[in-house]
Amino acid sequence: MSEDCLFCSIVSGDIPATIVHETDEVLAFRDLNPQAPTHVLVIPKAHYANAAELAEAEPSSAASLLTAAKEVAVLEGIAKSGYRLVFNTGKDGQQTVFHVHCHVLGGRAMVWPPG
Ligand code: AMP
Ligand code: ZN
Repeated sequence: MSEDCLFCSIVSGDIPATIVHETDEVLAFRDLNPQAPTHVLVIPKAHYANAAELAEAEPSSAASLLTAAKEVAVLEGIAKSGYRLVFNTGKDGQQTVFHVHCHVLGGRAMVWPPG
């Protein structure tokens, strides 16, 4: 738990979110400003600033995050049609919330390359 972290506050329940999937380790909830018909954020409940820090400190938790992202795709009905997983990291990655989160985007064809 990191003070003044938006996503830690969602984990603790201090800030509401629409939760779509939860395990002991991870939480998945709908993005407030969806960029696709399905836009869900998957986060570890423990605070790590980005995917690199999570992979370095807690590789098993990084694996759980990917498993949860797959589960979200199944629950949202996009596992077959396809989807995109995104970890924005740092300044050039346009990361705005510094609690690692995996964007699960689907329900429409994605464009490549991303902006
Ligand atoms: P990023 O730019 O990769 O750091 O993504 C942060 C994401 O968090 C953005 O897509 C925001 O729309 C989303 N977001 C910000 N505040 C909330 C919130 N309270 N509940 C759900 N999603 C949020
Ligand atoms: Zn946090």
